[in-house]
Amino acid sequence: MSFKSKMMGAAVAAALVGCAVPAVASAEPNVDAAVAAFKDLNLTPLTTMPSGRVVSPTVGSAENFGYRTYDQINQELANLESANPTLVTLKIAPHKSVEGRDVKYIEIATNVAAQDGRPALFMMGAIHGDEWAAGEHTLEFAYDVINTSKVNPKVKAILDKVRLIVMPVTNPDGWVRNTRANVRSVDLNRNYAFGWGSNIGANFTSRGSGPSSEPEVQNTMEIVQNNQVVALLTNHNNSHAFFYPGLQIAAGYPADLDVLRGLSLAMADATNNGYTNVRDSAHDYETSGETIDWSYYATRAYSVTPETVGGSTTCNRASATNKAGKAPNYVNCTTGDYTGYVPETAAADIRAAYGGHAMRDAFYQALVYATIDGGHSVINGTAPAGYTLKVTKDFDLYTNTIRNNTNPVTFSPPQAIPTHLESSMVVPADGKFSFHVNPSVRPVPPYRAEGMVPGPNGYYQESWTLSCLTPDGTVVETKQVLVDKGDTANLSICTQGEVGGTVPATLSLTLGAPATFGAFTPGVTQEYTASTTATVVSTAGDATLSVSDTGANPGHLVNGAFALASPLEGLGVVKTWTAPTSNEAVTVTFKQAIGANEPLRTGSYAKTLTFTLSTTNP
Ligand SMILES: [Zn+2]
Repeated sequence: MSFKSKMMGAAVAAALVGCAVPAVASAEPNVDAAVAAFKDLNLTPLTTMPSGRVVSPTVGSAENFGYRTYDQINQELANLESANPTLVTLKIAPHKSVEGRDVKYIEIATNVAAQDGRPALFMMGAIHGDEWAAGEHTLEFAYDVINTSKVNPKVKAILDKVRLIVMPVTNPDGWVRNTRANVRSVDLNRNYAFGWGSNIGANFTSRGSGPSSEPEVQNTMEIVQNNQVVALLTNHNNSHAFFYPGLQIAAGYPADLDVLRGLSLAMADATNNGYTNVRDSAHDYETSGETIDWSYYATRAYSVTPETVGGSTTCNRASATNKAGKAPNYVNCTTGDYTGYVPETAAADIRAAYGGHAMRDAFYQALVYATIDGGHSVINGTAPAGYTLKVTKDFDLYTNTIRNNTNPVTFSPPQAIPTHLESSMVVPADGKFSFHVNPSVRPVPPYRAEGMVPGPNGYYQESWTLSCLTPDGTVVETKQVLVDKGDTANLSICTQGEVGGTVPATLSLTLGAPATFGAFTPGVTQEYTASTTATVVSTAGDATLSVSDTGANPGHLVNGAFALASPLEGLGVVKTWTAPTSNEAVTVTFKQAIGANEPLRTGSYAKTLTFTLSTTNP
């Protein structure tokens, strides 16, 4: 925010005179816990950037003034992954930049590949592409945490509990051009789909063609929507400030002012009070469509804009000694602000601003906050090992009343922005899970369907939808879980017992004693009767029992080469079923007519018949 530092003096005065910032009545207990946890880290001070990056104090344009190129940053992200395969995963955001550049980021966590329900801290750098120091600080914090976790068990313990997501260059097209906006001249920090459209702090170009129209903005929104981001830091230059929601004075204060303000003050305190400009963004200067407002009102995450490498006239990008008014001296300003170590040779205003005021300490203060369960919500419980648990939430956020680009000016009503939050974890082998989530209870936003309603306005008592899925993705059970900040739910899901058994498909046919007609008497007209029993078991929906004769001279009993003149009666369909049956004894009856003049040969007239039990509906 290039003009923030110029306005700082005036803004401070205005805040003292005219802006009623509500006092925080008592310290917020989770902020207090985070402050204690930060102090307990006992970080060893640095004198160089954590990456070990060393540049000459007088480095010039040929070396990019000491700042990394976009390609160098991407290469270093890849190197961090390959050097730390279980700790770092390189990811590519879903949308390429307007000019087709990949937007890369890394996730840092112990056993980083595990989907284990950890809360996340998301740190974004350089959404304003000309704020190179912010990108450098973002990347260097990744190095810092990775390196320090290997020597400081308390920092390692943070990574056991929290997933750190680091995107050094949110706006790569702006970074390579050294421009604030993306290549469509959109100020990405005016483009978010919440409260958008008033043109406060923006215009028809810089706000973008629609709410969250820009792919670089969509990337960050999807990361927030698909992780449980309990804290978001979007790093800017160059001021020396922490700004929290809201963005517009008339929109009022957010319901969670105690945390937003309390943790921002704690971050400033962690720098040994190097950062004195801590306020809601609206009382610095008013804007619309910024990252922090959308993030907070969508998820209730602690959301803050750190403005680094300010507070020193010499280090201001607007200074004539800096590259085109853009890049502060890398060693004295950008490294000095990050580490709190400034060489004796640096100008007095630089030493006063940064010496002993390490910005990294503020980052760590925010990071340890993400480990404090009371700052978010936890769903504990039991479920079958290996199943996936998914939490989702759907609601509308709203733009502001939209100012149209017409003459005379016209306005459109607020536009609803369907917002879907969804994240997953896999149930561990012991069947006990702990899913760290943002509260389902959501702050009532000041921008609504009916227009702006100044806050704070309390909370919507909304729930997460918690689903349990088998490893192949079948949803077995769904529950509504309402959790407010600090709540811990305890439940079991997908663990209901079942009494039952399975029925294998069965078609069984057992024949009783052979049917016999007894003795045929030659010279007498008579009809003989014989029967046998077929015992049927069928689990099918239908079944047919039939008898057929496939031997020589079919349908007639034979005695060697001789056959009876009349056909054997009783062949064909014996019985049909339309339901299962078990151990049903079916009598199969045969009849044989013999005439008075029929010659009969001594011996046995017989046939081997085929009994068939069949189904069309097994
Ligand atoms: Zn900025």
